[in-house]
Amino acid sequence: MATNGVSDSLFKMPTIKFTKLFINGQFVDSISGKTFETIDPRTGEVIAKISEGTKEDVDAAVAVARDAFDNGPWPRMPGLERAKIMAKWADLIEENGDELAALDTIDAGLLYQFSKFGIPTGAAGSLRFYAGAADKIHGEVLKCSGEFHAYTLMEPIGVVGHIIPWNVPLAAFFTKVAPSMAAGCTMVLKPAEQTPLSALFAAHLAKLAGVPDGVLNVVPGFGPTAGAAISSHMDIDMVSFTGSVETGREVMHAAASSNLKAVSLELGGKSPLIIFDDADLDKAADLAFFGMFMNKGEVCIAGSRVYVQERIYDELEKKLVEKAKAWIVGDPFDPKTHQGPQADKKQFDKILWYIEHGMKEGATLLTGGKSIGTKGYFIEPTIFTNVKEDMRIAQDEIFGPVMALMKFKTIEEAIKSANNTRYGLAAGIVTKNIDTANTMSRSIRAGTIWINCYFVIGGDIPFGGFKMSGFGGKDLGLDALYKYMQLKSVVTPIYNSPWL
Ligand code: NAD
Repeated sequence: MATNGVSDSLFKMPTIKFTKLFINGQFVDSISGKTFETIDPRTGEVIAKISEGTKEDVDAAVAVARDAFDNGPWPRMPGLERAKIMAKWADLIEENGDELAALDTIDAGLLYQFSKFGIPTGAAGSLRFYAGAADKIHGEVLKCSGEFHAYTLMEPIGVVGHIIPWNVPLAAFFTKVAPSMAAGCTMVLKPAEQTPLSALFAAHLAKLAGVPDGVLNVVPGFGPTAGAAISSHMDIDMVSFTGSVETGREVMHAAASSNLKAVSLELGGKSPLIIFDDADLDKAADLAFFGMFMNKGEVCIAGSRVYVQERIYDELEKKLVEKAKAWIVGDPFDPKTHQGPQADKKQFDKILWYIEHGMKEGATLLTGGKSIGTKGYFIEPTIFTNVKEDMRIAQDEIFGPVMALMKFKTIEEAIKSANNTRYGLAAGIVTKNIDTANTMSRSIRAGTIWINCYFVIGGDIPFGGFKMSGFGGKDLGLDALYKYMQLKSVVTPIYNSPWL
């Protein structure tokens, strides 16, 4: 397994052009003048110093977003005009795709190939999907009892505060920004403190595309200061948050104790992949391995609990170990690499702690378990077997390359185990039996179910959690557009109408 670290020949450092807050169409220093460092997880070295937004900067950004919503052209222009600007922005994203992808690679440790794949799909693709919907937003004419005529209007919800995590920075940015812009909202977005670079570059391209000043504002900074200022702000109408359960609680609490703003939470997961003994074993092993280790396990929907029916357990275990041995951890710019560094030191330490804890709890380390190299945050793909369901490695979201492998006998047992979690983000089922697939997909309490596939996310497929994985409207799909809108009912009497 695993070459190590960063090979100098492939080391690429894009020029960092944007390091300041983006407010009202301008890059500006933070009011305090303070900056913070963003770190390259391949090396642990500083990439750049970023202006640090705090409450005062959020106040300034909200003031211009409020004015842009209450008085500006964006919510009032025909949807088609918004769509044209968004489509132009999408073109600019693609034209600058190499550079944007490289920023996520150096900031978050994403494989460069993976970052690049996300440019036409997750970034420009989201913009184009919602641009296409921007002129198709409409309410309904209602059949009203009595001599009244009623209809509904879909209106943009107002100023939105977006707070996003670091694991797929650009994709997370556009998952939030694209539908809310198409809806006619204005916004303040706080990227994660670990990964501000691609959001600032994208904001620059928004300006070039013609997004009016004040519509999109980007305020990098820390959660307890800039993030909390967003969720507690009296002039923000909705907060759309993606991140951990713990922070989600704080966001909700702040929203409840301020202006009761609408809240949408996309939170963590501990998703099960259930493999039945009629499955094609090679395909099942591919899905299990990829479903866990893609993007070094830093994926909210990672299939981190793998349940295998007992008859095929030993064979599948062997196949997974073989895959781990052939899995290359190293320079995320190298096309041969399968797994780059974890996003930051905190994440790296947390994952190693869980591995240590898994061994202490009595699980058997089948493969991996160690960090790699002397610089950067690289960890071996790690698989535990003999895992018990109440162990922390089977219950907690580790958000790293650590798989918990478990056995089941019957479909009833599989359903019970799959649902034995406080999360409900996604689940995978591998079987050739359509009845098994149908029973499982209807029995598992999770927002996305994959049958004989994993990680299939598309702009048009609604995405979001059940249980403690979140609520308050889906991300992706047309549902995401509607979550940034509110429904108004209009009723008027009808006089002298020939019929009701
Ligand atoms: P996090 O909750 O620590 O941080 C997320 C964001 O919240 C960051 O921008 C952070 O600065 C901000 N924040 C922190 N404290 C805050 C506060 N008190 N008030 C307001 N904002 C605050 O999460 P993370 O470690 O960045 O991301 C990992 C988590 O995100 C995992 O749990 C993962 O499953 C989840 N996630 C979920 C989805 C999804 O779609 N459901 C997608 C990606 C990641």
